[in-house]
Amino acid sequence: MVPWQPSSRSVPAPAWPKPPFWTALGRGAVNRCPICGQAPLFAGFLRVRDSCPHCEAPLGRIRADDAPPYFTIVIVGHIVIPLMLMVERQHEPALWVMAAIFLPMTLVLSLLFLRPVKGATVGLMMRLGLTGREQGPDAPGDPPRTGG
Ligand SMILES: [Zn+2]
Repeated sequence: MVPWQPSSRSVPAPAWPKPPFWTALGRGAVNRCPICGQAPLFAGFLRVRDSCPHCEAPLGRIRADDAPPYFTIVIVGHIVIPLMLMVERQHEPALWVMAAIFLPMTLVLSLLFLRPVKGATVGLMMRLGLTGREQGPDAPGDPPRTGG
């Protein structure tokens, strides 16, 4: 039996400069490439571009998965639930009135927050070096790996 050995393949350093933490998050939140801030991050409402047209950062390889909806639920919940409790306590409206106000509000706020939250999440992942290259072989067109 061969004893366990640490992998000789180390995680490569990203080939793109890392902007400061809040810069990366802010650029992503306003639909800009987290690395250069010069080009749009999204190709659709929530579809991240395959790569930045300006700096060629591999934005499409970043897998934000369920993090943006999770953060959006946390943010919207912290807005809607206190408002519901305040309205209920002060006015005691009928249940249908509460539903007529807060269900559409929750939907609209979720749609408003989801895109900037996803952009900020992509910016955070880019800042942390989670560019997707640590999970598999390079895609065609990826620049050569540095370090490691
Ligand atoms: Zn860029």
